[in-house]
Amino acid sequence: MFEMETMYREIGIRKSVLDFGKKIEERLSERFQEIDKIAEYNQLKVIHAMQEKRVSADCFHYASGYGYDDHGRDTLEEVYAAIFHTESALVRPQIACGTHALALALSANLRPGDELLSPAGKPYDTLEEVIGIRPSKGSLAEYGVSYSQVDLLEDGTFDYDNIAKALNERTKLVTIQRSKGYQTRPSFSVKQIGELIAFVKKIKPDVICMVDNCYGEFVETIEPSDVGADMVVGSLIKNPGGGLAPIGGYIAGREDLVEACAYRLTSPGLGKEVGASLGVMQSFYQGLFLAPTVVAGALKGAIFAANIYEELGYHVIPNSTESRHDIIQAVEFGVPEGVIAFCKGIQAAAPVDSYVTPVPWAMPGYDSDVIMAAGAFVQGSSIELSADGPIKPPYAVYFQGGLTWPHAKLGILMSLEYLIRDEVVTLK
Ligand SMILES: *Cc1c(COP(=O)(O)O)cnc(C)c1O
Repeated sequence: MFEMETMYREIGIRKSVLDFGKKIEERLSERFQEIDKIAEYNQLKVIHAMQEKRVSADCFHYASGYGYDDHGRDTLEEVYAAIFHTESALVRPQIACGTHALALALSANLRPGDELLSPAGKPYDTLEEVIGIRPSKGSLAEYGVSYSQVDLLEDGTFDYDNIAKALNERTKLVTIQRSKGYQTRPSFSVKQIGELIAFVKKIKPDVICMVDNCYGEFVETIEPSDVGADMVVGSLIKNPGGGLAPIGGYIAGREDLVEACAYRLTSPGLGKEVGASLGVMQSFYQGLFLAPTVVAGALKGAIFAANIYEELGYHVIPNSTESRHDIIQAVEFGVPEGVIAFCKGIQAAAPVDSYVTPVPWAMPGYDSDVIMAAGAFVQGSSIELSADGPIKPPYAVYFQGGLTWPHAKLGILMSLEYLIRDEVVTLK
């Protein structure tokens, strides 16, 4: 233990911060055990799928050109389908990010005259332009796809009465976002999502139910596709990439829907047959293999942070005891200095770019200055430890990730260290 303290001191954590963290960590042991159990189950689920689909060293070969018979790519898609218990999957480096995967799933399966319904409030920011809520070139609105939305009730639950009213003969697809993203609503459990899907399908059995699964993969032992979702969609630079995938997105679901996505991604007639994997397959497989434990580390970090900052008197979302349905944690500091010091600490704890100091700046698309901290191996990766916050009331910082629990822990202790150094917090 003496050596541990020395190590923490050398890396820049004072003893009072370490002791405070230790006290908090001790009371979390039961919850951490639960998280480890989920990770254990999901690790087996991933290995089982890889075994069943006969993943071999052959799957890691470089494929170029058209990519016909790209064995590694085709096998990986079978593995994803097995994990999500779906008929089919599309998992490609040609899917640039989560937004692209979602835009693909929507535009591939909606036609002019159809309506898209979001029964759980406003979708993720970047989807506003995809849908055309904010006018944008190439949006679904430009192609004659209309959109309707039912907001959540005051208490964060589904407004079933108005959802029933919103479903009409044109409603073709229903989109449900699992994670709260940057909103203050709670994230949904897979069970809640299943209840919503069952309700929708009872009224309109042929409606397509799609779930934006970003940040949710492997947080529970079941996925939305286990409770009736026709498509689940996500990014490989979040949970399922395990920190190793350098790019990519996935869509898992019903055969006909995924096929439509493939036709849209490449070309009608070509579909899944083309799209060489260009040497990234090993990182996709290995990242997927690591993802359950990586997600567990990130979850522990989020819970640790919630408990640390709640103990210090701050409003944290989710709170210290709530159950978790994604890996995002928000802390409201109430003052800009809090957000800035927190981000400085996260940056200082990074394995990459630890020596740079993040500062707030005017980013395109935001109505206030924003500060971001990330020292990641994969640019923009949010399964790696990262934090950001707009410099405006309530001065909340959002943070997520950590490829390992010890790194997530260090990041949070370092954030506290910087809050003390910048005289935002004093430890009694
Ligand atoms: C991150 C995220 C997206 C968009 O993914 P990008 O990879 O940033 O394009 C969409 N929905 C949710 C809930 C997300 O968390």
